[in-house]
Amino acid sequence: EWVHFIEFVNRIIDRFEMTKEKGITFVRRFPKYPVYVEIDTDKITQVMDNIISNALKYSPNGGQVTFKLIVYHECVEVRVSDQGVGIPKESINRIFDRFYRIDKARSRQMGGTGLGLAIAKEMVQAHGGKIWATSIEGKGTTIHFTLPYDREQEDDF
Ligand code: ATP
Ligand code: MG
Repeated sequence: EWVHFIEFVNRIIDRFEMTKEKGITFVRRFPKYPVYVEIDTDKITQVMDNIISNALKYSPNGGQVTFKLIVYHECVEVRVSDQGVGIPKESINRIFDRFYRIDKARSRQMGGTGLGLAIAKEMVQAHGGKIWATSIEGKGTTIHFTLPYDREQEDDF
């Protein structure tokens, strides 16, 4: 299904913004022009839901979650950054494995199964995209994912 991607993402973020706790602020950095992508909206909604709930779960009170959309020639990249506990270097790739949870008291208290990012990875890959994380422990985490995009196609809309 073809969607106006910024409107689509904004609606998902709005839904979290209405219910979020802990006084977390959302910041959106999106291009001013429309960007159309062909996606399975249910699946990409699940991907976004997973990433945003993690960002909220691992953020301190009063933290900021920043959403950024970067448009390249052949893909768009979504970045969701938090100011939370961060992820140790040795775990940065493993968080996308099934049932993997960073074994600190924190994850056990938080609840969850450790499947969220594994499912997100499957869904992004099914779209021909990539997903990865960057993080500085104690400072925060950014989850990045890409979706194929065709800049030339924009002319047809
Ligand atoms: P589920 O999503 O199934 O409810 P979960 O959130 O623990 O459980 P994932 O979403 O797959 O599972 O995340 C795997 C692990 O990666 C988490 O348990 C957590 O340790 C770590 N993690 C994920 N996102 C973040 C983040 N934004 N900041 C810090 N750690 C994170
Ligand atoms: Mg999760």
